[in-house]
This record gives sequence, structure tokens and C-alpha cells, in this order.
Amino acid sequence: MTSSLASFSSSPNAHILLLGMGGTIAGLADDPQTAPDRYEAGRVSVEALIEQAGVSLPSGLKVLARQMANIDSRNLSELLLTRLGNEIKQSLENPAVIGIVVTHGTDTIEETGFFLHAVCGNRARELGKRVVLTGAMLPANAPKADGPANISDSLRWVASTSEDSPGGIFAVFAGKVCLARDLAKRHTSALDAPLQDSLCSPIRLIGPSWLASVREMQASAGFDLAIPAETDWPWVEILMSHAGARSDSVEHWASSGVDGLVIAGTGQGGYHQSWRAALEKAAGKGIAIVRSSRTGAGPVSLDLAQKGDFGTPSAGDLSPPKARIALQLAIHSAGEAKKIAQTGANYLTWQDFFARIAVLPEIR
Ligand code: ASP
Repeated sequence: MTSSLASFSSSPNAHILLLGMGGTIAGLADDPQTAPDRYEAGRVSVEALIEQAGVSLPSGLKVLARQMANIDSRNLSELLLTRLGNEIKQSLENPAVIGIVVTHGTDTIEETGFFLHAVCGNRARELGKRVVLTGAMLPANAPKADGPANISDSLRWVASTSEDSPGGIFAVFAGKVCLARDLAKRHTSALDAPLQDSLCSPIRLIGPSWLASVREMQASAGFDLAIPAETDWPWVEILMSHAGARSDSVEHWASSGVDGLVIAGTGQGGYHQSWRAALEKAAGKGIAIVRSSRTGAGPVSLDLAQKGDFGTPSAGDLSPPKARIALQLAIHSAGEAKKIAQTGANYLTWQDFFARIAVLPEIR
């Protein structure tokens, strides 16, 4: 695909919205020459980042920046996800907004990427608009800061008007682009850490096979889920199975008031047999339980009866943190559907919602 940058002068208010969330891309090191890895995230404004990137866009196309937060993304909250999701959903409907770039910390970018994919991925695709998440692994004042190039690549991908450029939620890092659903930080320091394991393409060499995979993934995505109100997020915890796991941990969480549990299981999503009775009891109390894998890649088995499971749903290829967001959205959507349905008939359960967003056909 040759990505062309058209002239947007025909629409005087046309702009790309740049939303700042913070992260290393907005970080500053005290001594950037000798210790660029000792820095504080979220110190530079998004307006300053765009200036530093020095991007030249087609005539008539502006970038409007808005600071949503300026945090280290290890502190990401559900409240911020709600605000970001609502802002993006509304902005997508604005004809003057041709696309959106979000600068974000890499530590939890996979959660935000999956969240946006689940709540507005379909709408972005229908409208043919791109939302791009990006960030950096080096702070803004490091000698080889990667943020400026990531911002400029993201803006170019958003502004690309080639017929081949699909709408949807994407991520751009280190010269590569992938679907935001695929983000997963699997390295502590590599410049492409958030998308190393994903189905990505060099941004300047996007070809038909990557585009075909993107379209196939998007076609199976179904519909957008509702964004929970700021204080309306179900409480879901992640429990990792490990050598020496005890039933006490499951019993502790089962009596805590939690709405759901994501098992970060071993291998294909199995868990220690000492958990089985306590998990089944928790499920009997109405706690939603799904299985993912702590391995870091690959789908978990749909059915693990041979390993003693009692029928907990599989999280497909979702990592434990993504499965957690998926389960929160599924529990919330089931609650909303139940409120709407007359006398409780014909509403979708959390298992229905979860299966639709988690268990997609494998395309890789
Ligand atoms: N701690 C940083 C953050 O997630 C890491 C980064 O952005 O790379 O905000």
C-alpha cells in the first residue's frame, strides 16, 4: 500500500485529535545523558510533545491536543478508561475529526487497547476512522527518545487516505503498526516491547496480507459493548496458578465481594487441582470465572474437563489483563441487558458477551 496524504483544505475544521494520557513518552529524566532510564513518567504536556515531534501534515489538516491525564500508566484507573472511552466515542461521531492518536504509558497500554477495541472498534471501522495508541520506551529528553518518531508515524497512519487504510483501533511503535487488541508488553526495555508478539506490519510497507488479516479479525468482532459509568465497573481480580497453590487464596477472594475472577492458568489455561473445589463453590455463588494463560501467548483450551475443570469459559488468546477487562465489560453488559429486558426474558448472560469478545477464530 502506498499511503498518500491528501489535502484536507476542503474541510476547514478537519483535524486529528491528539489525546494525552501520560507515560514515558511524556517522561523526563533528571540526568538524560548518563541515566535515561531513571525518569518520572507523565511530566510533559501533550502540546509540548506534538511540538517536539515536529510533524508536517497536509495543508489544511490541524492537530488539536487535549490532555486527558498525565500519569504513569501503572496507575491507570477504570475511571480514566471511562473518560477516555467516552471522549473517543463522541469524537468519532464528529465529522471534523478525521482520526485520533492517544499517547499512553506502555505498562498498561494492552488494557486500554483491548478496552477501546471492545467499546468502539466496530464504530471506528464503520466510519473508516483510525484511532491509534502510541507511547515510548525512552523519556522525552533522552538523547535517542523514540516518542517523536512514534507520534509522527501515528499521525501519518491516521491521516493516510489510501482506500486500503481500514478504520479501527490500532497501535504504532518503532515503525510498526498492529491492531490495538493485539498489544501486549512482553519486554521490559525493547523499543517495540508493546507489540513484539503481535501480528504487525512495518508502517511504511503495509501490504495486502496484513490488511486481509486485519479485516478478518475485525469482521469477527461483532458489536461494541457499553462503556461502564465511572463508578459502575464490576470488581474483577486476577489469580495466578503456580506451584504450591492453596485453596485459601480462592476462598479469600470468594468471600471478598468480588464479581469475577480471571485465572492466569498454567499452559493451556489449567490450574492447580487444590483450587478446584473452592472455584466451583465460588462459581456456584455467582462469581464469574474465566480461564486465561500465564504463558504470554497462544489461545487457551475451550474445554479442560480432562484436567479436572468444571466448565469455566476460555478467554481465547486474551492475556490475563485483557481477559480481566473483557470480563468486566461482559458482566456490566449483561447487567444492562437484564435491566432493559422485560421480566428478565431473552437477555444475554456474561458468558454470551464474554464469548463474543474473547473467543474469536484464530487468524494468526
Ligand atoms: N511506566 C511507564 C508507563 O507505563 C512506562 C512507559 O510508558 O513505557 O507510564
